[in-house]
Amino acid sequence: MTEDNQAPQWVRVRAKLRAEFGEAAYRSWLKPVSLISAGRGVVQISAPTKFMRDWVDQQYGARLLQLWSEEDPAIRIIDIVHSGAIAATPKSRPVTSPRIAVGPSAWSASDSAQNGPSRIDRDDNVGAPLDARFDFSNFVVGKPNELAFAAARRVAEADVATFNPLFLYGGVGLGKTHLMHAIAWHIQTTRPDKRVIYLSAEKFMYQFIRAMRYKDTMAFKEQFRSVDILMIDDVQFFSGKDNTQEEFFHTFNALVDQNRQVVISADKSPNDLEGMEERMKSRLGWGLVADIHPTTYELRLGILQAKAERMAVEAPPKVLEFLAHKITSNVRELEGALNRIVAYANLVGRAITLDSAQEVLHDILRANDRRVTIEEIQKRVAEHYNIRLGEMYSARRSRAIARPRQVAMYLAKQLTPRSLPEIGRKFGGRDHTTVMHAVRKIDELRATDSSFSEDIDLLRRMLEG
Ligand code: ADP
Ligand code: MG
Repeated sequence: MTEDNQAPQWVRVRAKLRAEFGEAAYRSWLKPVSLISAGRGVVQISAPTKFMRDWVDQQYGARLLQLWSEEDPAIRIIDIVHSGAIAATPKSRPVTSPRIAVGPSAWSASDSAQNGPSRIDRDDNVGAPLDARFDFSNFVVGKPNELAFAAARRVAEADVATFNPLFLYGGVGLGKTHLMHAIAWHIQTTRPDKRVIYLSAEKFMYQFIRAMRYKDTMAFKEQFRSVDILMIDDVQFFSGKDNTQEEFFHTFNALVDQNRQVVISADKSPNDLEGMEERMKSRLGWGLVADIHPTTYELRLGILQAKAERMAVEAPPKVLEFLAHKITSNVRELEGALNRIVAYANLVGRAITLDSAQEVLHDILRANDRRVTIEEIQKRVAEHYNIRLGEMYSARRSRAIARPRQVAMYLAKQLTPRSLPEIGRKFGGRDHTTVMHAVRKIDELRATDSSFSEDIDLLRRMLEG
């Protein structure tokens, strides 16, 4: 390992990181990691502890990849393991990220035919690496995600396709990818004979385009159509990409027809996916559509507690409560905040306090403080329902106008700290009882009409996002 550490590329990459991130960061985080190997598109490096592995991955992973691919354009993946992995018992999960995918044989034809220097590097795996942290036991369940969680578990445990497809959707950082990886982990450990492929929609497209270039679409089709479970993440990426969408549609149909399980994720419900063909949207909605709602305070606190426990850090409850209150955007950011204060405490060697947390997170906290304004809400809602902005203040009472106006009042109450009279004033000088009525009405409608309710959640997410 020490020898490899002298590899000239690694020496250069480290020097650049040192210049960019400064001496302190270099010494604490980058110097302790060492190069294990580089080749076949993957650079593997090791960090002394799990925590350091996660930290280096989060903070420097993207830049590391960039710098390495400047050295060697074939490099596509930086795989960080922690050196404790070597001591791991055979029964425990490998700490590195294994890939789950069918074998590489299907690619070999194109491989030998195309060996010119300009050939795009291909990694042998159709699927993407799985994150070892993303399993069911690490997923904290609460009201906002209980349906998605239960559905994912069912799919992972069932022998035959249950809901086909399972369609998971929700805003960014709410756990869609986590649940898909958890399904793959579970199947891999309980039924290793099953072939599972997990990949992003983007990677699906990339492979499809490559297959077309090498006139190897048969192998491409075979590859995907012979799996037991296919999971494609973030299919909103397909919008407007007609050829890829078409290919995906055929793959999808072939699998569902053979009763193979398909799991899809997206940031919107099937119906709301723009730039998707109608037949695709309707087909995607055939199985179970499970929405992951924005987090609640309780869920955020639960996630923080679980994570602090896993990292074995002493974080005072007050600090966790503070974070759960303040960082409401998504779980990824919440985790990032906790990592940051833990790293800070380690670095300066002092216990975590509310004061130090506030200081270390001042930029994140400021961003989360950004409140939506009533004006923004009015504008968004008007656009969404395709009415003129002026109707928000007008006296017109036809349903087509009044309903969106009520939605906007409702969201103003939910998303801003304004009082009912203040909100009324912003809507053309209406009375506070009108606002109250609007809030009740929308609550009522949400309780009885789930697609309306989804629509409101979507608006809300866009406004908060
Ligand atoms: P998405 O794919 O929906 O954008 P991810 O699955 O990537 O979101 O989740 C972002 C981060 O938040 C991941 O690190 C994931 O482990 C974590 N996370 C999200 N939801 C939960 C949860 N309910 N419990 C534990 N961790 C979660
Ligand atoms: Mg994701």
